[in-house]
Amino acid sequence: MSNAEHPTIDTVVPAGEPWMGVVRRGQVLRIVDLKGNQAVDTLFYNAYDTAEHYSAQDTIQAQRSIYLTTGSQLRSNRGRPMLTITEDTCGRHDTLGGACSAESNTVRYAIDKRHMHSCRDSFLLALSQHDDGLDKRDLPSNINFFMNVPVTPAGQLEFADGISAAGRHVQMLAQMDVLVLISNCPQLNNPCNAYDPTPVRVMAWDAA
Ligand SMILES: [Zn+2]
Repeated sequence: MSNAEHPTIDTVVPAGEPWMGVVRRGQVLRIVDLKGNQAVDTLFYNAYDTAEHYSAQDTIQAQRSIYLTTGSQLRSNRGRPMLTITEDTCGRHDTLGGACSAESNTVRYAIDKRHMHSCRDSFLLALSQHDDGLDKRDLPSNINFFMNVPVTPAGQLEFADGISAAGRHVQMLAQMDVLVLISNCPQLNNPCNAYDPTPVRVMAWDAA
């Protein structure tokens, strides 16, 4: 039996790097924004059947809100609960902004941004280094933990300054064995991570 003092997973994901790991049903997953205002692009897959994965659409529809916080149930494309957020000292996480990519960097910023690191490339790098049979077709819309993407009354998305701060964390209880895929966002062109990518800590332990 592990606990918060003796976690089964305890790793620091450096700024701009990906991470993959399995969190078991009944375990708690905690992501800590060590320096503040980092964006943690995250996807979840059923560890035994990766055709089942986190679905922004099913999650938003079920909770009737586009933001994630304590009580939010992260649902799969089969409508099943995957994880439930049980603690959140940040207060808001994004479901809509998606992952940055070479293509979006080029369109949003400038052609010479194409070769900068991006979350989509980090996701693909992590998938290529793990033998899970996943490839670019298996990248649905992701969660951006700690990222602030308010929607205006007119329905427009804004990439706004973050509301997170050093040491804030989000914690969730896994309701199935989940494969976790993280890109600790390397973006340098928008305020999603305050133009300054920083490390995050990922922990997991058995719930009491
Ligand atoms: Zn990114």
